[in-house]
Amino acid sequence: MLTKPPHGSPCNGCGGCCADQRCPLGRLVFGPGGRCPALEMRFPAFTCGLVESPEKHAPHVVRTHGADRAAKAAAILIGAGLGCDALLEGEAPNAEWRAWAIGRVDRVASAEAAAIWCAR
Ligand code: SF4
Ligand code: SF4
Repeated sequence: MLTKPPHGSPCNGCGGCCADQRCPLGRLVFGPGGRCPALEMRFPAFTCGLVESPEKHAPHVVRTHGADRAAKAAAILIGAGLGCDALLEGEAPNAEWRAWAIGRVDRVASAEAAAIWCAR
């Protein structure tokens, strides 16, 4: 198992966040609950199944929008590439990184991505 890096560090795919609780996209697709059903092992790290294989977890979205669009939209909605946004076990937040990450959000692309995943 990989160890979770500090908040705001590059994501190493430890999977701690998605094993602990579902992100907003995970809750939208699977409903409320603990460990996300889309959390997939790609040894030695974990990855998001809604990005890697959306056809497996959300065939209704892929039927409407195609796997490539669904995957790219999922990556935007989970903040892929921004860094570790999980705070586990009382960890102190990295406020400087959080402000940087918020500034990187493309609101138009996020709205388009949300429209893809919110469509039923
Ligand atoms: S966001 Fe953080 S806790 Fe989640 S997989 Fe990446 S490094 Fe691990
Ligand atoms: S949808 Fe993806 S990023 Fe979100 S909790 Fe599930 S596996 Fe993690």
